[in-house]
Amino acid sequence: MQPLTIIMYHYIRDFTRTRYPGIKGLDLAGFRRQLDYLQSRHTIVRVRDVVAAQRGESGLPADAALLTFDDAYAEHYALVFPELYERKLEGAFFAPVDPVCHGKLLDVNRIHFILAANAAQGGDPEEISAKLDAALREAEAGWNLEPVEAYRAQWAHPNRFDDAETIYIKRMLQTALPEALRHRIAVDLFAHFVSMDEAAFAGELYMSEQQARLMQGCGMYFGSHGASHHWLNRVPREIQEAEVDRSLEFLRRIGSPVDDHWVMCYPYGGWNEGLLDVLRDRNCTLGLTTEVATALINQHDPLLLPRFDTNDFPR
Ligand SMILES: [Zn+2]
Repeated sequence: MQPLTIIMYHYIRDFTRTRYPGIKGLDLAGFRRQLDYLQSRHTIVRVRDVVAAQRGESGLPADAALLTFDDAYAEHYALVFPELYERKLEGAFFAPVDPVCHGKLLDVNRIHFILAANAAQGGDPEEISAKLDAALREAEAGWNLEPVEAYRAQWAHPNRFDDAETIYIKRMLQTALPEALRHRIAVDLFAHFVSMDEAAFAGELYMSEQQARLMQGCGMYFGSHGASHHWLNRVPREIQEAEVDRSLEFLRRIGSPVDDHWVMCYPYGGWNEGLLDVLRDRNCTLGLTTEVATALINQHDPLLLPRFDTNDFPR
């Protein structure tokens, strides 16, 4: 058994330049300080070091840590990549195919920017939830929904990052409603609060395939984060297979290894036994969840390694 600290990053931004200060994330200076901190206490290892340890070919340093970056934001190319390259560190990047290759905005980002744009205009989350609740009442009969009050009772509870109203908006638009309905409501809210032109917005938000290929060629690792960033535990097997296969094609195109070893990072941390079968069929070596703990190589199921969030460490 070998402990491995895996750290998960999402937004890393230059807050002096952003139009959306409400987007929660790590600013560049904080990222640099956190790297200093991590490098003073850990040995940053590469994906292939972890794979070798998992296979019993070599050991990991006792203080091993792995840096992971989800969702292929443009800042991962513009800010993170130069910083890691300079420090001679490998980052493991998990890029969903549709945003990078097809200009599609991820649901999770649509929701974040609705909240951030509203906050930047001085609005409260209640302004969004009022529109959300109005849309729900309108859709209630046709979609056979529960009453708004029932959803609120279930979902409007604060967590360690967000207040109750914000969590309610996020959960309703991420999971609670039928997918087609929540997508439609989120697109309407995005058009109202942020922008009518989602494709242009997505083009600025994510890195391009070319940039991913360049990073890969310069020593960064790219693994699978699915194609459309769906909850893969909620879709039938053929969709799971299509999602994984489309992402493996993308990885092959940018020159990332997919035959000898590859890493799956579950969108939203969602997995089930059927998905693990699909991954094993395709020789997936490691899987990353969003459970918060130290990964224990050769003790945890290699397809279910937990990760810390950047917020769990000082900045
Ligand atoms: Zn993601």
